[in-house]
Amino acid sequence: MAGQKANGSSESVEIPEIKFTKLFINGGFVDAISGKTFETIDPRNGQVIARVAEGDEDDVDLAVEAAREAFDHGPWPRMSGQERAKIMMKYADLVEENAEEVAALDALDAGKLFALVKAGDIPGSVAQLRYYAGAADKIHGEVLKTSQGFQGYTLREPVGVVGHIIPWNFPSTFFFWKVAPALAAGCTMVVKPAEQTPLSALYSAHLAKMAGIPDGVINVVTGFGPTAGAAVASHMQIDKVSFTGSTEIGRTILKAAAESNLKHVSLELGGKSPLIIFDDADVDVAAPLALTGILFNKGEICVASSRVLVQEGIYDELVKKLIELAKSWVVGDPFDPKAQQGPQVDKNQFEKVLSYIEHGKREGATLLAGGKPLGKKGYYIEPTIFADVTDNMLIAKDEIFGPVLSLMKFKTIDEAIARANCTRYGLAAGVLTKDINTANTMSRSIRAGTVWINCYFAFELDAPFGGYKMSGFGKDSGMEGLYK
Ligand code: NAD
Repeated sequence: MAGQKANGSSESVEIPEIKFTKLFINGGFVDAISGKTFETIDPRNGQVIARVAEGDEDDVDLAVEAAREAFDHGPWPRMSGQERAKIMMKYADLVEENAEEVAALDALDAGKLFALVKAGDIPGSVAQLRYYAGAADKIHGEVLKTSQGFQGYTLREPVGVVGHIIPWNFPSTFFFWKVAPALAAGCTMVVKPAEQTPLSALYSAHLAKMAGIPDGVINVVTGFGPTAGAAVASHMQIDKVSFTGSTEIGRTILKAAAESNLKHVSLELGGKSPLIIFDDADVDVAAPLALTGILFNKGEICVASSRVLVQEGIYDELVKKLIELAKSWVVGDPFDPKAQQGPQVDKNQFEKVLSYIEHGKREGATLLAGGKPLGKKGYYIEPTIFADVTDNMLIAKDEIFGPVLSLMKFKTIDEAIARANCTRYGLAAGVLTKDINTANTMSRSIRAGTVWINCYFAFELDAPFGGYKMSGFGKDSGMEGLYK
């Protein structure tokens, strides 16, 4: 594999050598106790990239033992915030220096656009490390207003050993979203990456060791959800589990936590986010935003604007523009700098998205663009746009997690609010309008954790991120990500 040039790329990008395929426990790379391995697959062609150690309950036990020892007796929680910050800064520098290699691993494993991961996900991860390094010596409690001559204060203490269970759509981003605040707080941890995308997490564990993070502080157990993931969720010695993934598995995690040691849980789950475009929006701004809102990362993003609600006065013009743009959208090899959309992450996801497209057709939605797989190999799907979608159709209700947009027409602001909220999810929303009153009314009326006005995907380090309703609870990012 090493040294090969990426297929189809006009500027050649080296396919990285796969250096780390074993579990990372107590500062070393080890085989799974069972000796088992599993294949990680290249979604461009369905071929095996590498075989990776398949951890299960016994390996999670070992990893937790290491993390427990590092928390209960090791230096990390006992260091000053400044000392931890210094090491975290070094870690950030190393991730930055190796950005190209980490980005290539995510592109290879997940079918993500190499150029975007290199320019976005990795610098974002570096920034998370630096942000929380800056916070490590500013974590303090409060002096309480007491009566009767007593004195009282609160302390913010590290929660202990944290289990991070992460999905495949942003492997590096979620690794660092979870690991960085936990490191700053003085926690130790076991990370369970998604089975589809284990490579960058193992590489990042190696960089943690190089940065001087003590053994046992970060452990990575690769493997499957029902075995390795479930062992993390139900472990009696884990104090908190921080989960990002589907609502269905979020429910399983919460149950496992309740039935084991009542560990703290934070859940970042699915979404069916609306983008609401009012008549006064600029079509030339709105159309590309609506398209990118669904096609970015091939629709495999929890905040994808999968429902686009358009006011009737602008509807026809917007739809025309949207179709034009969709037709010129470039689907191709994620290593090709011209590509705007790579393959879906794996065969399951590919088939799931195609079956939703068939549902949409059967339910009576009008297919305006796309609707088919692309190419003879790999898991590529055409950018797909449905119109005349009603709130009760499956494609309007379920998170498809693919490049499938549902268009809906509305008349009044009240209708827009009701339809935007007509979902079991509440992760994000977008509103495009020039009217400040409309913007304010919408942002207060939509029950979603993030409401973007005249923009989309506007992530900020200092902004907490999390959901309402069945999109979960708890926060990632910002200072709230450190406290919750
Ligand atoms: P998933 O829930 O299937 O898997 C997520 C992780 O959970 C993986 O590591 C998996 O191995 C593990 N897992 C699976 N079964 C488990 C079990 N029984 N016990 C413990 N762990 C288990 O989700 P996915 O398919 O990897 O990711 C897509 C989903 O993630 C979508 O629903 C998406 O919206 C959601 N997501 C949410 C956010 C957010 O921040 N809200 C971000 C990205 C993705």
